[in-house]
Amino acid sequence: MRFDIVTLFPGMFEGVFGESIVARALQSGLVEIGFVNPRDFSLDRHRKVDDRPFGGGPGMILMAEPLYRAIKSVRRRAHGRRSAGRGAAWAGRPRGRGSHVVFLSPQGRRFDARVAAELASREHVVLVCGHYEGVDERLRAAFDDEISIGDYVLTGGELPAMVVADAVARLVPGVLKKEEAVKEESFELREGVGLSLDHPHYTRPRVWRGKRVPAALLSGDHERIIDWRRRAATVATRRKRPDLIG
Ligand code: SAM
Repeated sequence: MRFDIVTLFPGMFEGVFGESIVARALQSGLVEIGFVNPRDFSLDRHRKVDDRPFGGGPGMILMAEPLYRAIKSVRRRAHGRRSAGRGAAWAGRPRGRGSHVVFLSPQGRRFDARVAAELASREHVVLVCGHYEGVDERLRAAFDDEISIGDYVLTGGELPAMVVADAVARLVPGVLKKEEAVKEESFELREGVGLSLDHPHYTRPRVWRGKRVPAALLSGDHERIIDWRRRAATVATRRKRPDLIG
């Protein structure tokens, strides 16, 4: 799948996408990430993209036209790529055709595992990062979706775009080494359990500072291990997130 990120600060993404699993996904071509800077679409010779709010008040507002042009250019390029059928990231993805343009905003619907799965079924997601006081309201029609990563206000949409891209990229088949790893994680719907947190994990040594690994996990009995993990996940969910059980 492909992400295009519309941002005034593409440099902020270098470290995050340049390491670990997302970097590997980019190298393999399973995921593509492009950046578009609205400054490149400014009509102003100083590449200005913001202005003071009508009605007064503090802060600057991102003007509609540079962002609108940036989004349009990304949609147009994606359409060209799809028509040409180029690249592994575009192959074999029958659902969610077309570009899905998401505005990152504290006022959007709340991002969670379900929204991540929904986005992962799409072939092209455009993440638009606001900054300063926000964007000109007249731009809303250019967005298909508005997503918030939580009820707090950040200085810009860059961190939320990183959060969304990371959570979605790891759901793309082949990105994680073992796809089962996704199936057994927190916030997955599990049979007989409902929406659950992950079960606790243990690794070597068997005894660490007097604390032992639960016997079931050392038993070698597959059924017993599955049963222990299911119970432990339910206990963890009841204790830490009873709201998930409803
Ligand atoms: N004036 C806006 C409001 O109160 O709704 C907040 C603007 S915020 C300072 C600047 C930009 O950061 C927003 O346009 C948005 O793109 C991004 N942003 C801030 N908090 C966010 C959150 N919780 N989730 C997603 N995006 C967020």
